[in-house]
Amino acid sequence: MNFIAVIILLTIVADFVLHTLADVLNLRMLGDKVPEPFQGVYDTERYRQSQEYLRVNTRFGWITALFDISVLFVFWFGKGFLFLDQWSRSWNQGPVLTGLIYIGILIAFKTILSLPFSIYATFVIEERFGFNKTTWRIFATDMLKGLMLSILLGGPLLAGVLAFFEYAGSNAWWYCWIVVTIFMLIIQFIAPTWIMPLFNKFEPLEDGELKHAIMSYAQSVKFSLKNVFVIDGSRRSEKSNAFFTGFGKNKRIALFDTLIAQHTVSELVAVLAHEIGHYKKKHILQTMIISFAELGIMLFLLSLFISYQGLFDAFYMEQKSVYAGMIFFGMLYSPIEFFLGIFMQMRSRKNEYEADRFAVETTQDGSSLADALKKLSANNLSNLIPHPFYVFLNYSHPPVLKRIRAILNS
Ligand SMILES: [Zn+2]
Repeated sequence: MNFIAVIILLTIVADFVLHTLADVLNLRMLGDKVPEPFQGVYDTERYRQSQEYLRVNTRFGWITALFDISVLFVFWFGKGFLFLDQWSRSWNQGPVLTGLIYIGILIAFKTILSLPFSIYATFVIEERFGFNKTTWRIFATDMLKGLMLSILLGGPLLAGVLAFFEYAGSNAWWYCWIVVTIFMLIIQFIAPTWIMPLFNKFEPLEDGELKHAIMSYAQSVKFSLKNVFVIDGSRRSEKSNAFFTGFGKNKRIALFDTLIAQHTVSELVAVLAHEIGHYKKKHILQTMIISFAELGIMLFLLSLFISYQGLFDAFYMEQKSVYAGMIFFGMLYSPIEFFLGIFMQMRSRKNEYEADRFAVETTQDGSSLADALKKLSANNLSNLIPHPFYVFLNYSHPPVLKRIRAILNS
């Protein structure tokens, strides 16, 4: 085993140990007492359920992670990457097509293996806690649509990246950077109108008290909003959410129908004000710029490592190739990804406070936002008292109690 293999192995083990440690600490925080701001929102029984939900999901996460790691190790040390390479090359299809076969089969293999886990999560766990609305039919068509999209959109992109690294020499990384960036911008632009409607129905919010309140709020903060959409989240789950997608003229605010059903008008305006806050404070733009910068760095590092012999030796490969180099580099890159992820989440948690503050300042109504957050947490059975280390590793949003405290104190 060479030192590249050792680095990758240690990363995988360290990642598992850290996350398990965080999980254990997280579970030890659980207790019977409903935190004070939630008394009246969470009854004892519902609160007990939220803790059970966390326990069940944590245990399920352990099983999934252990399974994934075991499969990877068996495949890796059983020389699976080498045998698949020999088989893919036996079709004599040139480097780009061979690469598509190789990576396509790895992805298909991973998808098939994870299928029983997502079935269990949807039809057993979510069902048991009363969230699941997904039928087998919706589940299957979602899978098929996802598959078609990844073949139609991901296939040509992957072929392009493989071709650049195969034929463009040392310029490949920045050619790829430009092409992938443009591709991602186009996807972001067309997602609200072309991709998301494949999975959900978007309907303009009907005229009435809610629409009127939202429109006059948007006007008061000079946010041009042509329409607000209602998305049929209830098709799949009882959980609720609101989000913001696209940019320019294509930007859309969508509220889940489940959210509308459970909140008052002023709470919904507060939620929407929070979303607009993200836009006004340029969080969305900043996140996009940072991820494009990260993409550039990653592609540059990829160009340095893609033909490094040690990378191929680590996986028992007999011949070098761009496609296998990409896969192996992806694993070598994961420590950097880990630290970047932590940084991005810290940023995101800070942005959440900022968006909350924006909402409170512009609506002059902190209690509606606080009430909305309480209802959202109770409805989604969120954990109210996560361990700080767990938050540090996993949370893109601050713990809800901290948010509520910040909102009511501002
Ligand atoms: Zn937010």
